[in-house]
Amino acid sequence: MNENGVVEAPSVGYVVDVPQHYRLVRKDARREHSIVRLRGGASFGGDELAICAGPCSVESEQQIDAVARAVAAAGANVLRGGAYKPRTSPYSFQGLGADALKMLRDAADVYGLAVVTEVLDPRDVELVASYAEMLQIGTRNMHNVPLLREAGRSRVPVLLKRGRAATIEEWLSAAEYVMLEGNADVVLCERGVRSFDTATRNVLDLAAVPLLRELTHLPAIVDPSHATGMARLVPPMALASIAAGADGFLVEVHPEPARALCDGMQSLDIDQFTAMMSRVGSVATAAGRRMPWRSNVVRGVTAS
Ligand code: PEP
Ligand code: MN
Repeated sequence: MNENGVVEAPSVGYVVDVPQHYRLVRKDARREHSIVRLRGGASFGGDELAICAGPCSVESEQQIDAVARAVAAAGANVLRGGAYKPRTSPYSFQGLGADALKMLRDAADVYGLAVVTEVLDPRDVELVASYAEMLQIGTRNMHNVPLLREAGRSRVPVLLKRGRAATIEEWLSAAEYVMLEGNADVVLCERGVRSFDTATRNVLDLAAVPLLRELTHLPAIVDPSHATGMARLVPPMALASIAAGADGFLVEVHPEPARALCDGMQSLDIDQFTAMMSRVGSVATAAGRRMPWRSNVVRGVTAS
């Protein structure tokens, strides 16, 4: 191109300047697909899947212990549970805060699981990171630049959920904010987007999974619980996610969904989760992936 912007090469018709909203997260910024490893061994993006499971909210020691025990036995390797809940109504249950972080940590340690939990406020990043292997940034905060930056400065792996009305470009740009602070350990989580159709809570954009594979080196998982809002739709969509090439999934599990303080409609009970997990292995094999490795016996609980 000469100084007037005119292309002089005879084989080039015209040049389009593509604005680069994200650079570090682009597929071609790395030679290989990234693997995000959590302390304790769980990883996202390698051959092995990451299976994250647990209640929407941590409600009590007994509740989180029962879920942790069951999901570990069924083959999950990451325990999820909300301590700080970003509820639509300020009158809804807001989570048990720091008490819940302690309960999560204790339960995870007993059953050999890693912890992922949401952080809402940049001022809480350090506290949450002191209890969890992974910080979740939820759909409502995907555009919260100070939170993205603080999570980036923490250098703790980040699970970045897609904004409920975010384009893929906006989502990857949010990931770029985290990476720009020096934290390359970002995992994307497709959790459905809002649409005209309210038949399901959100619309799961499963095509995002293979598309992300073309656009970014970052690992990506799927949350079929928030995507569908309906427990019976969660197992087929979790299996479909793995078939589509997701690096794992995140599902809500509650010992008694009907009594859950948050998101009971979309939560699997323990039997439903266990039944679903017995079907994941064959889909994983077909997709060229492996179930997470777990030590066979975790404090007396035999992993299946
Ligand atoms: C959650 O994981 O409990 C949650 C609130 O998710 P999202 O941000 O996707 O709504
Ligand atoms: Mn939830």
